[in-house]
Amino acid sequence: MPFTYNGLPSRVIFGQGTLARVAEEVQALGCQRVLVLSTPQQEGQARQVLDQLGELGADVFAGARMHTPVETTEEAMRVLSSLGADGVVAIGGGSTIGLGKAIALRADLPQVVIPTTYAGSEMTPILGETKNGLKTTQRTLKVLPETVIYDVDLTLGLPVAMSGTSGINAIAHAVEALYAKDRNPIVSMMAEEGIAALARSLPIIAGAPADATARSDALYGAWLCGACLGSVGMSLHHKLCHTLGGSFDLPHAETHTIVLPHAVAYNAEAAPEAMARIARALGADDAAGGLYDLAKAVGAPLALRDIGLNEGDIDRATEIATGNPYWNPREIEAQGIHRLLSDAHAGRRPETLEATDR
Ligand code: NAD
Repeated sequence: MPFTYNGLPSRVIFGQGTLARVAEEVQALGCQRVLVLSTPQQEGQARQVLDQLGELGADVFAGARMHTPVETTEEAMRVLSSLGADGVVAIGGGSTIGLGKAIALRADLPQVVIPTTYAGSEMTPILGETKNGLKTTQRTLKVLPETVIYDVDLTLGLPVAMSGTSGINAIAHAVEALYAKDRNPIVSMMAEEGIAALARSLPIIAGAPADATARSDALYGAWLCGACLGSVGMSLHHKLCHTLGGSFDLPHAETHTIVLPHAVAYNAEAAPEAMARIARALGADDAAGGLYDLAKAVGAPLALRDIGLNEGDIDRATEIATGNPYWNPREIEAQGIHRLLSDAHAGRRPETLEATDR
């Protein structure tokens, strides 16, 4: 099958203790005075980075928030220009990385990103922002971070519950990459490897959160899955999660974790090759059931009703999710999506023909 592959330019430093290289990486980008970004919860870590930067560090802006509100970005821009900063270092999860990208979009400054979750934003040229409660997403190379430092040590303390859901959030990118319209052999190879690395490490982390080998495996998997998200188009699963997060304010990683097995079950018959690769990477009999069992094994929530979706919201969620759909291997039809959401709401283990035929 003919294909097109777009390689994205980014430099990756991976391993334990790699944070020690932050100053030389900032210097390599030609920056002399960078602003360090974090959420209020991670200000302590941001201050440590500032210390490590010495004269290259201008100050810390610890106001990053979920969904990248434009008001927060404008506040950070004021701090940035008052300090005369010429680059940013973002340490944290997707929320902090989003702020770094929003600044890069406006000021065209280089970014060094130090991810501490598995969400994958650091590998994508995608920026989601909210203004007056409305979320807009854009794709531009201007926001793709120049340098990413994956320091396994920084993930050792990621709480167990967040590790499981954030890891499955990453898996969701790879799963959809395997049946994307613009899929290609390189990205599919990364996807399968990324799913396998996370599937074998997340259950170990659930029992031994400070296991450095499992943490290294998980972060490696998250990197690969993030690269998938950055390279090819996403389908039904991501549309459902954007709907549930955007219109019903459900938490990001948990929503991904709960919806994924059901979105995969919906697509199973239409994408048999992808299903076989997902199942193989999970070491499971079938893709959808395997994803559900993985979520259960890491102690993640399994039902949308447990994270704030009311049964009465399913009709409206179906309507929003089926309006303006993303490309999907199987046609989007309202009855099927309603059933999918009802199953996810109740937390039922998905049944696929693929599994029941056997
Ligand atoms: P997050 O960044 O919102 O982090 C959640 C909380 O956990 C924050 O308080 C954070 O400070 C804290 N935290 C992060 N790492 C920690 C650690 N190691 N130890 C303890 N606490 C830690 O969560 P997230 O799931 O990483 O990111 C979700 C956001 O990222 C969403 O808004 C999503 O839309 C966005 N996102 C964007 C892209 C993209 O390509 N643009 C990709 C993935 C996610």
